Amino acid sequence: MYAQVIVDIAHSQVDKIFEYSCGDELKAGSRVKVPFGGRVIDGFVVGVSGTSAFPPERIKPVAYVYDEPPALGEECFSLMNELSSRYRVPKAVCLRLFIPSEMRAGRVHEVYKKLVRFVSDEIKLAKTAKKQFEFLQYLKDCGGDEFTACCQRFGRGAVNAVIEKGGAEVVKIKINRAPSGYNVGEEDKKVLTPAQEAALESIENSPQTVHLIHGVTGSGKTEIYLNVISRALERGKTAIFLVPEISLTPQMFSQLKRRFGDKAAILHSGLTAGERFDEWWRLKTGDAKIAIGARSAIFSPLENIGAIIIDEEHDGSYFSESAPRYSTVEVAEMRAKYNGCKLILGSATPSIEAYSSAVSGEYNLITLTERINGRPLPHITIADMRREVKRGNNSAFSQALREELADVLENGRQAIIFLNRRGYSHTVICQDCGNVLKCEHCDVSLAYHSEENCLKCHYCGAKYRMPRACPECGGIHLRYGGTGTQRVVSDLKAAFPGARILRMDVDTTSGKEGHYKILKQFADKQADILVGTQMIAKGHDFPSVTLVGILDADMSLHFSDYRAGERTFQLITQVSGRSGRAGEAGKVVLQTYSPENYILRYAVNYDYKGFFENEISLRRATKFPPFSLICRVMVTAADDDCALEALKGVYFGCEELRQRYPQEFIFLNKMHSPIKKIQGRVRYQVLMRLEGKKLLPDIYDLAVKFTTPKALVYVEENPVNLS
Ligand code: ADP
Ligand code: ZN
Repeated sequence: MYAQVIVDIAHSQVDKIFEYSCGDELKAGSRVKVPFGGRVIDGFVVGVSGTSAFPPERIKPVAYVYDEPPALGEECFSLMNELSSRYRVPKAVCLRLFIPSEMRAGRVHEVYKKLVRFVSDEIKLAKTAKKQFEFLQYLKDCGGDEFTACCQRFGRGAVNAVIEKGGAEVVKIKINRAPSGYNVGEEDKKVLTPAQEAALESIENSPQTVHLIHGVTGSGKTEIYLNVISRALERGKTAIFLVPEISLTPQMFSQLKRRFGDKAAILHSGLTAGERFDEWWRLKTGDAKIAIGARSAIFSPLENIGAIIIDEEHDGSYFSESAPRYSTVEVAEMRAKYNGCKLILGSATPSIEAYSSAVSGEYNLITLTERINGRPLPHITIADMRREVKRGNNSAFSQALREELADVLENGRQAIIFLNRRGYSHTVICQDCGNVLKCEHCDVSLAYHSEENCLKCHYCGAKYRMPRACPECGGIHLRYGGTGTQRVVSDLKAAFPGARILRMDVDTTSGKEGHYKILKQFADKQADILVGTQMIAKGHDFPSVTLVGILDADMSLHFSDYRAGERTFQLITQVSGRSGRAGEAGKVVLQTYSPENYILRYAVNYDYKGFFENEISLRRATKFPPFSLICRVMVTAADDDCALEALKGVYFGCEELRQRYPQEFIFLNKMHSPIKKIQGRVRYQVLMRLEGKKLLPDIYDLAVKFTTPKALVYVEENPVNLS
């Protein structure tokens, strides 16, 4: 027999199928070791056949077959082909996505327990072998026991003698290192509301593959997902449930374990390598039927998938930042089509792309406008910080927020202070009029670069001198950067000496457990106020929080990104959703220098549709996605010359394309990346805005063509971050 093997090397030059001879029992999907270029390396068997086109004397045998069931299924090969042609990465790199990295490196192995089992007592034992008789009798009574325990009790000699004579046998049982410690209590199955029932019916009966649930925070989307999963299981199928890593909280695990028990495998970054390995095999062998995890769980080894769910669909973490730079929704669509199942996207603030696909009818749109039990959405008050500055209030808190905080502390409730740090230190804002400096060509905010003391546009590379005064009002209180969490905490302590305050940001959450610990302390009411950045925006359910303060609400509005408006609307809605989740009505104070801004107006009124209409017509007029594609080809190298050579190659290639297809290009240029150097590697980019996806394959080809051992070249589509 001959095995078709893809060797586990991430290089386009060996991105082919190699043939080796093998035994009859080798199956497609198995992992093997094969001789390759003088070494023996790992490989994946993608097919087996009885004949080969090569002369037999040139074919080498497979060196080693891993002692495990085939790790890759049919669907993997289909996805491998789709992904490698879509994102132009070697097939081996695609296959790696399907297997836990610990397993590939051979660092983790299964753990077995050795058991001794009774076979027969019709064997001949020496009359004097008292221990052997006792052991055999013991086994006969209980059927079997652990090998080590038996040895301790009856002596290793007696145990081995009985085994040798055929009275007992040793069996190896696999032990699952399933993550434990979840709070598994009563199952709390709920009676679905009419809106939830209707949503489930719609998912079942609409012809589209993709369904978008747009439901306000607290409208019971999670309960809909759980029911979709139950129904898939009832039909004998499996399910994948994706959430952003940050939402994988202990509360969430407990909820899922209560509902699905051992059928659920939860893959999160807190697992040990061994746990991840075992959970993966539980899914592979069908012991577990539901894969729950962040982005990479889309590659779970499930067969016969009945539903795929992506919660918080708008979240930036669904885009991979290493090769292949895939979009999780796109991969999920591939899997949904392969399995003939539904893909359900959910969000309180859908991405503009997803919502416009829903409006156009490509996706089935399901709208939930009410919170469960008719609980009101929190009331949002806008605090105009320009006025506070004029009144001489230079603290981080407006009068309104101060008063509400006092009220919360007095009544023994909890508050969250959210510090909007996205694009924080880069934007320049006039504190007198709220004006933000923008690019003349692109209408996006400029970013301040301190090393050159200038302002730059991240979309066209234009440079501007840093002005002394605001070009709009002549005011000289130009501010960039601003309050950090530490400053907010010290201001809070000064204003409310008795308050217990917790801080959560990148500095306080080091280590895997860092942010769980802080969230748990807050949930246990060991603090009155939680101060934090983006990390506290999502998913958490703290029943006694009745106030949310949003500082610098407009900072993300001015982030030098065409998604600035969208991000701001999402943030405000998500953060506000933390307030008043239980009985008490919630409040939100939103502090801003641009209170008249339309995005804030829509957010305050929870008017997603109004926001969407506005945003989509703006994008249409300015030709930003989804009406165009922003494409960046990054070039990085340790050495400037190598980088520049690759950059030139890519740029001239794009120039040629533009000459052939001028109508496809809205913008094309090459430049330093906003951050010129990271970890000793210089960074350059070819930046373009394209009418559509037509030229993407050619651009990916250019990236592959100019990648050298020294220069890394890769393509990003509509990158979440342009730094
Ligand atoms: P979302 O995911 O839309 O933000 P959740 O699923 O977290 O909303 O639901 C909000 C709250 O309502 C949760 O506390 C949940 O337990 C509760 N809930 C959801 N569905 C029901 C129901 N059918 N009956 C009673 N309570 C429900
Ligand atoms: Zn510009």
